[in-house]
Amino acid sequence: MIAVKNISKAFGSLQVLDKISFDLKKGGIFAVLGPNGSGKTTFLKILLGMVLPDSGEIYYQDQPILQSHAYRKHIGYLPQIARFPDNLKVREIIHMIMDIREEPAHPEPLIELFKLDKFMDKKLGDLSGGTRQKVNIVLTFMFDTPVVVLDEPTAGLDPVSLIKLKDLLHQAKNQGKMILITSHIMSLVEELADEVIFLLEGKIYFQGTLSDLQSKTETRDLEHSIAAIL
Ligand code: ADP
Repeated sequence: MIAVKNISKAFGSLQVLDKISFDLKKGGIFAVLGPNGSGKTTFLKILLGMVLPDSGEIYYQDQPILQSHAYRKHIGYLPQIARFPDNLKVREIIHMIMDIREEPAHPEPLIELFKLDKFMDKKLGDLSGGTRQKVNIVLTFMFDTPVVVLDEPTAGLDPVSLIKLKDLLHQAKNQGKMILITSHIMSLVEELADEVIFLLEGKIYFQGTLSDLQSKTETRDLEHSIAAIL
């Protein structure tokens, strides 16, 4: 579905990504892992066409993404830091994003799922971090996109909302969507990810199933496997 070919990106003298290549299939959950500063967010932004790589190309359904008008519309994105104005009400931001994207959207079931009804007329700046994150989840999943990209989606979520998010991710996968996620919560990665892509020092240190990663490092538990690598 998405083919990443030889992507490189440097900020000044810092080579963040160094000729990264891999393929992402349809209908799976891929977790991008790596220590802080290993380029996970930069990689996601390049994948979304928000940051240009220095070299390399990304193909979506065999078309280079920068030439594919459909591409951005096919992606739902939950950024690590969503920069919406604090004085906008929840209802306003949902309508604003619907207007910008001009696609059918179904926010209501998600508003109900995350019990956001009572917050619809509150300003974003008056919400707790967790409630803001639930709004971000609604904004990400309200369009029926075949690709969903989530950068640390669990930030600030209470345990019940975390379970709801996991259900949403399972559902999306069962519908044949491709999900790309970064997370520091290893239990979430273990529970959800079909494959992990492990970035280290600008390269892909490992791509494969968790059990392959675990057998490679000969420890049972994912967190220990990763500690062994680092
Ligand atoms: P991660 O998500 O794995 O923590 P990032 O992709 O956010 O890593 O950042 C990788 C490295 O690139 C970090 O050292 C970060 O400081 C640097 N970096 C990211 N974006 C920029 C930018 N716009 N300008 C300069 N340096 C950046």
